[in-house]
Amino acid sequence: AKRDGPESIRFFDTEMERRIRHRACIQRDLQSTIERNGLDLHYQPVALDTGEVVAFEALARWYHPKKGNISPGDFIPIAEESGQILQLSRWVLRQACQQAASWKRPLDIAVNLSPVQFQHEDLPALIGSVLSETGLAPKRLELEITEGALILDCDRALVTLTKLRKIGVQIVLDDFGTGYSSLSYLRDFPFSKIKIDRSFIEKIGVQDSAKAIIHAVIGLGHSMKMAVTAEGVETEEQLKYLRDEGCDLIQGYLIGRPAPIESYATLTGNIVSP
Ligand code: C2E
Ligand code: CA
Ligand code: CA
Ligand code: CA
Repeated sequence: AKRDGPESIRFFDTEMERRIRHRACIQRDLQSTIERNGLDLHYQPVALDTGEVVAFEALARWYHPKKGNISPGDFIPIAEESGQILQLSRWVLRQACQQAASWKRPLDIAVNLSPVQFQHEDLPALIGSVLSETGLAPKRLELEITEGALILDCDRALVTLTKLRKIGVQIVLDDFGTGYSSLSYLRDFPFSKIKIDRSFIEKIGVQDSAKAIIHAVIGLGHSMKMAVTAEGVETEEQLKYLRDEGCDLIQGYLIGRPAPIESYATLTGNIVSP
């Protein structure tokens, strides 16, 4: 750190050093955790507007012995920067597909893809081999992507997604409404479903413009033959509004929190005998 110079520069140096050390530390610990199979997956149910659960979304969890639970919002971006996301994602994909293939009820399984995978991975080859290894029916796998995956190399992303659709998996546009050019993406890419971001859902009953946007997105999705999921549904008021608007699928704490799959054994049909 600078010893002389204005206070702000010294602060900036130490703050930046702290962040760099934090990143290096996370990367090192994440590496050993991935290698010893120490990550976990939680599963969050997705329901029809009738309440019937039809799918689960797999979400990565990392319990750090010293730091406690580290949120994927923290470690995913660091893993994307270091390239570790590729190794991490392969684990998540295999684990989630293997898990879903073991369920007595054939519910869908949603897995998040990183934009980095579109740049540095042969996704159709990876997905193809995971499906054949695990025996999961392709139509049960939903790959969730954000606009970030499409922005960098649009043409290549379109080729990749088209190949993935040929394999028979579903492609879902995640966090809809938070990016910049959503409308042309809807027209140009083969999505089977769109997920309205939680930031709109949480404003139902608070901000009338959020309702107008949700109404428009559901109409738009349906006119393009896409199912629409609302994420982050926490209240009965939100659920009622979404139902009235004809939203197809509901996800959020109101239906169920992300949790180890054992806590949803009655839904998956894998009830463990006492
Ligand atoms: P996401 O894909 O948008 O996932 C939904 C996030 O919203 C999850 O946060 C979930 O726990 C949270 N959530 C669900 N329902 C509610 C609700 O009713 N209220 C509130 N307040 N939150 C709700 P989580 O698990 O912390 O994950 C954050 C993000 O990290 C995910 O956002 C996803 O972008 C990323 N992520 C998580 N697991 C993976 C993974 O395996 N691979 C990749 N590439 N990204 C992942
Ligand atoms: Ca997601
Ligand atoms: Ca989302
Ligand atoms: Ca999100």
